[in-house]
Amino acid sequence: MKFIADGMLGKLTRWLRILGHNVKYSNRLDDNQLLTIAKKERRILLTRDLELYQQATAKGVNAFYFEGTDEAERLAQLAKRFGIKLEVDMTISRCPKCNTRVKPIEKEKIADKVEKSTFTYYNEFWQCPKCEQIYWQGAHWTRIRKTLEQAKENLKKLKKNEK
Ligand SMILES: [Zn+2]
Repeated sequence: MKFIADGMLGKLTRWLRILGHNVKYSNRLDDNQLLTIAKKERRILLTRDLELYQQATAKGVNAFYFEGTDEAERLAQLAKRFGIKLEVDMTISRCPKCNTRVKPIEKEKIADKVEKSTFTYYNEFWQCPKCEQIYWQGAHWTRIRKTLEQAKENLKKLKKNEK
């Protein structure tokens, strides 16, 4: 299951990559390019644009249209439709910036690449082999967990409404 997201879904793209999904994204792609790539690479087109969604379905491209306003709502919709797991598993996480799978890196190797306090407080680090960005589950992680908890709550509601 691979995705391509329209130019309005940059934030959601980063979320999906953290959750381990392969998402192509560029805000320079126009509608035609999005449809062509989706079809050629068999990616599911994620969009907030109803017109684009309709074009996609007319052309036989698998597409998903969002109505939700925030990430927790959108993630819940995706979880319901595609069974996406709302948990971060760093062994499958992708770099939110470039979509490459991140790899664990020994703490010693990044000593001169992160702030001293970060190096002192955290022991587990990951690096993107392509763009070399370093990741750790720092203070921002609380917010990530919160959003995922909210998404899970939303998912429960979505499932309940269905019955
Ligand atoms: Zn990267």
